Amino acid sequence: MNFYMPVKLYAEENCVTRHAAELASMGKNALIVTGKSSARRCGAFYDVTGALEKYGVSWVEFAKVEENPSVETVMSAAELGIREGTDFVIGIGGGSPMDAAKAIALMIKHPDKDWTYLYDGSQDSSTIPIAEIPTTAGTGSEVTAVSVLTRHDKHAKGSIPHRIFAQLALIDGKYVAQAPAGILANTTMDALAHLYESYIHSKATDYSRMCAEAGIRIWARSKDVILGKREAVPEDFMNMMNASAIAGMAIAHTATSLPHALSYRLTYSANMAHGKACGYFLPGYLREADPRDVSHILAIAGFESIDELEAYYEKTCGRDDVPKEILEETIREVASNEAKCKLPPYKVDEDLIRRIVYGK
Ligand code: NAP
Ligand code: FE
Repeated sequence: MNFYMPVKLYAEENCVTRHAAELASMGKNALIVTGKSSARRCGAFYDVTGALEKYGVSWVEFAKVEENPSVETVMSAAELGIREGTDFVIGIGGGSPMDAAKAIALMIKHPDKDWTYLYDGSQDSSTIPIAEIPTTAGTGSEVTAVSVLTRHDKHAKGSIPHRIFAQLALIDGKYVAQAPAGILANTTMDALAHLYESYIHSKATDYSRMCAEAGIRIWARSKDVILGKREAVPEDFMNMMNASAIAGMAIAHTATSLPHALSYRLTYSANMAHGKACGYFLPGYLREADPRDVSHILAIAGFESIDELEAYYEKTCGRDDVPKEILEETIREVASNEAKCKLPPYKVDEDLIRRIVYGK
């Protein structure tokens, strides 16, 4: 058993501006990695460039990270970074730019290697320094060692084997304050899936459960906002961000479990947003677990039953009809993956996975 959280984290209002000196001290020439437009729209991009300029740090921008970032995107951003003499990377965004930033920092550190290096876990995982600034409240990537990439050559999505932590995470609820309700619903569902999957996990410890329980408690504070029952106040956005980061600390110790494993096929083949795809399998996952554990973690979030959680999912994320062949494919893939079948604390076989996928 160990507990390891090496990311220095600040979570507060105007976080980037307050810690501008520390961010700028990470290097002389930053590569800022973002998605298409939200980093600018939410203001994080301007806070970061303002901070760097104040301290005379130069920067270049790679603003082309797509949702579920591909190996090709990582390699073209790394090429830019190498060409520009980048000595640290700042990821701004949801999980996609933050995960990409980790893989990009790895490839910049190893400039003579090709993309296959990303998938060779026996190689050196050191990177140039990384700062992460979340603008969604879901993945916790700012504190996890995971980078999830899409491999179009294999028509699949999954984590790379390197474990890569950022040095610095700057968390500010204001970046998520203008996000559309759908993005908030899907990403906070991802955070809840991290918390529940980590709690119900073969690798759960008292320490990882400490994070999961605290994260669920904080997550629950903004549940009514996501349900549309009340207007959000600024504190709600900070709570959403904190729940997501603490959920990240929980999965950094246990990993995620079957809902995440099953979700990747839905995202790749049915184009379903990540959090929504994980939430699709979450009630089924809980139905197979020890009912005492389940009532405990449902109660912390204010759910009376798994059915109530399922109704919450349908109301906030919406349940899509997924083509049967995609569901069958994900069942086949996960059931034949021995490592994934060992993630839950209960015995897994194909019948059990079918129950999770097809419901009660
Ligand atoms: P995302 O894919 O990063 O972004 C989804 C969408 O949200 C994009 O269109 C993005 O726009 C937009 N967006 C981001 N911030 C916004 C804001 N503040 N306001 C309005 N729109 C905003 O979404 P995500 O759910 O955060 O990340 C999902 C990815 O993270 C998946 O690849 C998943 O596998 C991975 N993941 C990683 C971990 C981990 O431990 N590392 C854990 C869970 C999931 P722009 O393109 O304009 O930015
Ligand atoms: Fe996730």
